[in-house]
Amino acid sequence: MSEQKAIRNAMTVDVEDYFQVSAFAPYIARGDWEGCECRVERNIERILALFAQHQTKATFFTLGWIAERYPQVVRDIVAAGHELASHGYGHERASDLSPQAFMQDIVRAKKLLEDLGGHEVIGYRAPSFSIGKSNLWAFDTLREAGYQYSSSVYPIQHDHYGMPDSPRFAYPVREGLLEVPVTTLRVMNKNLPSSGGGYFRLLPYPVSRWLIRQVNAQDQQSAVFYFHPWEIDVDQPRVAGIDSKSRFRHYVNIARTHDRIGRLLQDFAWGRMDEIFLGRRTAALATSAVAA
Ligand SMILES: [Zn+2]
Repeated sequence: MSEQKAIRNAMTVDVEDYFQVSAFAPYIARGDWEGCECRVERNIERILALFAQHQTKATFFTLGWIAERYPQVVRDIVAAGHELASHGYGHERASDLSPQAFMQDIVRAKKLLEDLGGHEVIGYRAPSFSIGKSNLWAFDTLREAGYQYSSSVYPIQHDHYGMPDSPRFAYPVREGLLEVPVTTLRVMNKNLPSSGGGYFRLLPYPVSRWLIRQVNAQDQQSAVFYFHPWEIDVDQPRVAGIDSKSRFRHYVNIARTHDRIGRLLQDFAWGRMDEIFLGRRTAALATSAVAA
């Protein structure tokens, strides 16, 4: 066992389908989602199998829209001992919503997920990391809605999101609300994205592994890694007519991602957000302690 295993990192999945990604919003109308072939069930099944194989527990930030249509997906996630968390209801960027509309979206998702999962839902991740300077009120709304942590800020410079000068690691952003930013590595006064998504598919695996190792070793902090079910889905229907940048970002190295995630699970120790950052002891842990 390598020394990196001393620090546990947080493994997270944003549960949404390929037609819901923000970059495709100009090409696929929200009203057309219903008619798209949904692939999320089989992809979550594969992810659950991969996590089981590596005895990994993770956090699944799940869209209310998906939970409503695929309740079994939610039940399977919870039954396998993972943390069920919220990705909002309809995958609208928090920065595009009024405070009232945002409140409605996050309350609706929380209630749906809690009814299906049978547990309190305390974690939230904004679609496209869409909490930034222009909408810091969203933290007040999250607290008011009963969330205890958020993982919605990406402290980098990016064309779609990011707040590069915000803290890189977990911090109390409001009383009773922890913000756990996705992970960056500080190199030459810049924050490099080090936590998954398109960058993980684009970069050779050893580079991604190095980035996480550096965060664990230099910063002595847990990294937060994220991916989406569609990122392991080679057979997903191709969206026609999209711009070349979005096409590249969405499809690059999709055929390699499943196995790369397997390597990550092998090379580091992983856990759920609520356990790592809120020190929660979960039912799953308690059960395994009894069984031992
Ligand atoms: Zn999303």
